[in-house]
Amino acid sequence: MKISQRAAQISPSPTVGMAARAKQMIREGLDVISFAVGEPDFATPEHICRAAQEAMEAGHTKYTAASGILELKEAVVARLRAEVGLNYDADQVCISNGGKHALANIWQTLLDEGDEVIIFAPYWVSYPAQIQLCGGRPKAVMTDASRGFQPDPAEVRRAVTPRTVAVLLNSPANPTGSIFDRETLQEIATIAAENDLTIVSDEIYRNLIFDGRQHLSIAMLDEETKARTILVDGVSKSYAMTGWRIGWLIGPRQFVAKCSSIQSQQTSAPSSISQYAALAALTGPQDCVARMRAQFEQRRNFFVKALGELEGIKCNTPPGAFYVFPDISAHLGRNLAGRQIDTSLQLAEYLLEEGLISTVPGAAFGAEGFLRLSFACSAEDIKRGLQRLKTALGI
Ligand code: PMP
Ligand code: GLU
Repeated sequence: MKISQRAAQISPSPTVGMAARAKQMIREGLDVISFAVGEPDFATPEHICRAAQEAMEAGHTKYTAASGILELKEAVVARLRAEVGLNYDADQVCISNGGKHALANIWQTLLDEGDEVIIFAPYWVSYPAQIQLCGGRPKAVMTDASRGFQPDPAEVRRAVTPRTVAVLLNSPANPTGSIFDRETLQEIATIAAENDLTIVSDEIYRNLIFDGRQHLSIAMLDEETKARTILVDGVSKSYAMTGWRIGWLIGPRQFVAKCSSIQSQQTSAPSSISQYAALAALTGPQDCVARMRAQFEQRRNFFVKALGELEGIKCNTPPGAFYVFPDISAHLGRNLAGRQIDTSLQLAEYLLEEGLISTVPGAAFGAEGFLRLSFACSAEDIKRGLQRLKTALGI
């Protein structure tokens, strides 16, 4: 059967794919420890689940407005105002089927054939694929572990061409956990203003920031920057709600209205029941967010310290999100258990098949020589997984 050129160039998401392989091996009876997927291991808090049950009982089981229920939009803007002081109106919000879908809506609304989007590598796996699906061209600006994965503004400037329409930020970042500092955000805002670029700021990890640091959104810099920025967020990571599929985008009214029109043609509306659950998440007690963050922080501290003691592994301390992203390049070029390991993909496959730990190769994020390990799993799994890593690498 015919397959379009656009579809032909798309591969499955490697993060989702690696997690699925680990799950399949577990189903086959193997004791695999999964560091692959970025999904909190905590259960969705009980009061949120209860709200979903109540929504069903109250008959909220029909289509909602395409861009989501007004109460949820109002809760999104109220929480943003309370937490970071940003002011938006409810009609600047479009509720989607997860942050991933919000991003897909943005690219469909923004991009024409051949338009370029600046992204920062290491990048989340779905960014280039989503941009390409809409006819756009991702243009990666490399960032370096030695600079805490902060981009060099001169390189951002060099990446701008007459075809550049947007710059995509993700702070805190997947896979590095890095947080762009104020100066970097300011430089990016200036470059965006000089070249009339849209800023897309994926802030899905904004509640997962450690060491008592506060989130700084690029939209908080000044009104002009805010006016050219589209924010992306959702309940998946902050409230352990990955399966509920609720995220949103917030931005200029006209742009958001177009996103909503596209959504109304493609998916009608996000699940009504999930929207009521997300409403309970945003308007209910927030101590669950802090509790989960504290646990992630403890796990991060343990993981980074333990990795730092391993020969040939260099690991930054991620200030946010729930991934460690160690440099494992010293182990490439080795022969392990009769297998030649020259790439991060070969190493990840070896670790899965021989070591029974699933990770995601750095190459999937545009950074060969690294591995991503999620610490959204139990402390016990981290301890056991580290032991397996040592054994598999013979260190
Ligand atoms: N952005 C980043 C950087 C992510 O890691 C994820 C996780 N899948 C998302 C967006 C979207 O998450 P969701 O669709 O579950 O809201
Ligand atoms: N964001 C998570 C990850 O990077 C979930 C999987 C995905 O959607 O990529 O693992």
